[in-house]
Amino acid sequence: MRIRSGDQVVVIRGDYAGTEPRQVLQVLDGGRRLVVQGVNVVYKHVRRGHPRSPQGGRLEVELPIDASNVLLYCDACGRGVRVGYRFDDNNQKERFCRRCSKSLGKIGRPRRRATAS
Ligand SMILES: [Zn+2]
Repeated sequence: MRIRSGDQVVVIRGDYAGTEPRQVLQVLDGGRRLVVQGVNVVYKHVRRGHPRSPQGGRLEVELPIDASNVLLYCDACGRGVRVGYRFDDNNQKERFCRRCSKSLGKIGRPRRRATAS
């Protein structure tokens, strides 16, 4: 899928829908589900001895949401946008904004061209 860990995304469906960018903390299930900072927060009650709460109590934890409910955030557009893929002049794969065509960062390693000249 098109969202990667560390991306800024905008939630477009559900209780957390809005316009502000939020950070993706974790990508699960091959990219179909995402854990997004501050989204789908629940209290998890933990017993004493939990690493994040040694004396026990309530922890606030984000639960995963479906990747289809977010859009990748584009700095230039200042909003969530649809994402495309293309290869740049060095044959390096990159994501780009379908709205303003700006690059949204390289993906993977540079690739050799099939035909050398
Ligand atoms: Zn854009």
